[in-house]
Amino acid sequence: MRLLRSTDLALRVLMRLAVAAAADNPTTKQVAADMDVPYTHAAKVVAELQHLGLVDARRGRGGGLTLTERGRAASVGAVVRTFEGDGDVVECEGEKPCPLHSGCRLRGALRRAQEAFFAALDPITVADMVTAPTGPLLLSLPRVRAATDD
Ligand code: SF4
Repeated sequence: MRLLRSTDLALRVLMRLAVAAAADNPTTKQVAADMDVPYTHAAKVVAELQHLGLVDARRGRGGGLTLTERGRAASVGAVVRTFEGDGDVVECEGEKPCPLHSGCRLRGALRRAQEAFFAALDPITVADMVTAPTGPLLLSLPRVRAATDD
């Protein structure tokens, strides 16, 4: 199963913000640069994370992005479910429906496998994801290190 780019990006943004020091409120542009992703993609994801109450965004001088307490405690499984949506892993219907769609055992098996995939991520929180080695690695990225050293 392959995640949507926006799902992975949402998790990257959350991890980046999870290691931000109190004085480091990176902008969306800075987070995009830190995570090596296009600004427009990062901006869309940040808007959704803000809408979900996982990220707080403040404009102006001294503004920037912060992870909310809810964001820190958020389940990775819940984030992945939200960004992936509840679509099937394979398109059985649609414009050219599969001839087996009305009675396919494989379809049910794939649904259960998809649910097991999400369930494996449910107990993991955003805070868990930035324990070593990931947290120290994030903090060693050049701009992150400069911002958190200030
Ligand atoms: S074989 Fe089954 S799972 Fe595959 S597309 Fe057809 S209905 Fe869906």
